[in-house]
Amino acid sequence: MNEEIDKKKVAVVTGAGRGIGRGIAEALARDGLHVVCVSKSESSCGAAADSINESGGQAEALAVDVSSGEQIRQACEQLLEKYECVDVLVNNAGITRDNLLFRMEENDWSDVVNTNLGSCFHWIKALGRPMTRKRWGRIVNVASVVGLTGNAGQANYSAAKAGMIGLTKSLAREFAARSVTVNAIAPGFIDTDMTSELDERVKEGALATIPLKRFGQVSDIAEMAAFICSDKASYITGQVFTVDGGMVM
Ligand code: NAP
Repeated sequence: MNEEIDKKKVAVVTGAGRGIGRGIAEALARDGLHVVCVSKSESSCGAAADSINESGGQAEALAVDVSSGEQIRQACEQLLEKYECVDVLVNNAGITRDNLLFRMEENDWSDVVNTNLGSCFHWIKALGRPMTRKRWGRIVNVASVVGLTGNAGQANYSAAKAGMIGLTKSLAREFAARSVTVNAIAPGFIDTDMTSELDERVKEGALATIPLKRFGQVSDIAEMAAFICSDKASYITGQVFTVDGGMVM
């Protein structure tokens, strides 16, 4: 193992190629962690890792399709051989396939549930044990406000995000005795590729429901994640942090 990396905590951030995940990866690298940037495409996680390394942080890229349990298991084997323990895991990779239930195809359901929720099960199962042995760890699951409120046209996505919240609370209880904290962040409407493709009318409608009268920025979520992953947050577990400009109170 590279000695310099040896001294640093190691973080895995999924969906780190773009948007919120990339912001979280950059914030953790700024805070001194070695960050493994995971995304589906090699070019996307590669660009994120290169940019962190160029600005003085430490990162590497790992292309993994998180809808595949097998790919996650192989990636974790590789990581644990290299680092023995991953200290911080941020499950952020996610997709939407919006439609009203009667128009929703079975694939729209299973792809969304596997990518958003199933991936958390596989990553945590593979990386959680060494964390509990080390008696220090941080797991952050990036859910959504719609996991709390539901949303017409997003039954698959809302169910997956609500599932992530249930998983977070259960594992917070399972891992607490080993000083491994498990928390969730529920972002509201954040300016990223995921939301840029929405219809202008949908965006205007969303804006009207936000008391702070603006969409969130990636940094709003990244700074919350960086705090939860730090030593300062050692007494916080099983929580859902809503970062949404006041949409859900
Ligand atoms: P985004 O801009 O669409 O980026 C998604 C990232 O996830 C990309 O890096 C993508 O990889 C990766 N990804 C998608 N499917 C994957 C797969 N099967 N395997 C590996 N990586 C995969 O999304 P975002 O807006 O930053 O959202 C990030 C998270 O926040 C998601 O979980 C989303 O549900 C949640 N969230 C977002 C908002 C919002 O308003 N934006 C609100 C609430 C919750 P590639 O780069 O390789 O394509």
